[in-house]
Amino acid sequence: MMVIGGGITGISAAVDLARLGVTVFLVENSGSLGGHAARLSCKATDRCVACGACMVEEKIRQATSNANIRIYLNTRVDKIDRDKRFEVTLKQDGQMPHIDVDAILMASGFAPFHPVNKPYGYGRFENVMTSLELDRMLRQSGAVTRPSDSQFPRNMAFIQCVGSRDSSLGHLWCSKICCGAALRMARCIQNRQQGMEATFFYIDVQNFGKNFQIYYADSRQRVRMIRSIPADVLKTADDRLKLSYFDPDTQAYQEAVFDMVILSIGLMPSESTRNLAAMLNIDMAGFAYARKTPIPLPEGVFAAGAALEPMSIAESILSAGKAAGNIYRYLETSSQT
Ligand SMILES: Cc1cc2nc3c(=O)[nH]c(=O)nc-3n(C[C@H](O)[C@H](O)[C@H](O)COP(=O)(O)OP(=O)(O)OC[C@H]3O[C@@H](n4cnc5c(N)ncnc54)[C@H](O)[C@@H]3O)c2cc1C
Ligand code: SF4
Ligand code: SF4
Repeated sequence: MMVIGGGITGISAAVDLARLGVTVFLVENSGSLGGHAARLSCKATDRCVACGACMVEEKIRQATSNANIRIYLNTRVDKIDRDKRFEVTLKQDGQMPHIDVDAILMASGFAPFHPVNKPYGYGRFENVMTSLELDRMLRQSGAVTRPSDSQFPRNMAFIQCVGSRDSSLGHLWCSKICCGAALRMARCIQNRQQGMEATFFYIDVQNFGKNFQIYYADSRQRVRMIRSIPADVLKTADDRLKLSYFDPDTQAYQEAVFDMVILSIGLMPSESTRNLAAMLNIDMAGFAYARKTPIPLPEGVFAAGAALEPMSIAESILSAGKAAGNIYRYLETSSQT
């Protein structure tokens, strides 16, 4: 069988199936396994905060050491024909290998929302960053500094729901991971950079994941929570960032000035998933993220992880396990017919 996408979902499913004796062709576009999750930082403070990022390395080790998994990196799916089996044409280093398989798992993941058209100055003001960029900065240097002058920020604003729960964009879904990710990052930075004040602008906090309620109650003591989404972000003469927002407590518009503004971008259906769906004659409406009912997939085609809907790492691993079980049963039944 073939797994398309070598993120945490694809790797987990490949490992589960390989352990059951199935030969798995694991195809990944990029030059490494792990997808978005492999580039996330550990957000531990004085203790582990269960962000899940460290699960990825172990899964990669399990996949690369299992002889039943054949890994194709820097490889694209060029064409999928179907006779009795799937005839997949890959594109790799100018070569076009063909592989025949009985089942395909779409594990092609998500695309991060690009906030360039939102009124927050992203792309114009250096100290406005996305949550993904902040996460990478934390992973690479262990500390957060302002891109404009390399100084430690004294205060930071986190704006939630950027690209998600946005009817003007037709994105009605909650991305599920960004409240937890932003709070964990804020607390991690506060722990490493004493005195940094964090303010969280939100609609309502989504409470997903293990022990989140306790963690959230504790975070409220250390992070200023304002239940409002700012209208815009402007740069001040001294290179800071001014936010205006409607304050629910005073019922009036207020302004606040920050050293950095972080946009908590949401998870979007990816172009790559769209292309794969087209190759497999799947109705893309099913991958619109807002769907509540199961997606009708052609026989032998399965899907899991953030290709289907916004998911955390732990949920992606569960989704992969469920898909692997279904694929194993499908392969067993189809080999008997
Ligand atoms: C800012 C941010 C912070 C986050 N923080 C957390 C956190 O703290 N904790 C948490 O649990 N989750 C977090 N997440 C969510 C986490 O990233 C996802 O749960 C996880 O990445 C989903 O894994 P996936 O394998 O389904 O998708 P992806 O990570 O998107 O992986 C998909 C893979 O498939 C490959 N691919 C796509 N199309 C093709 C194709 N046609 N052919 C070959 N390969 C293909 C891609 O290159 C990629 O490697 C965060 C996400 C964001 C954006
Ligand atoms: S779960 Fe997250 S916080 Fe805990 S050790 Fe792993 S990477 Fe660090
Ligand atoms: S998880 Fe939080 S920030 Fe993300 S879309 Fe849902 S409510 Fe908004």
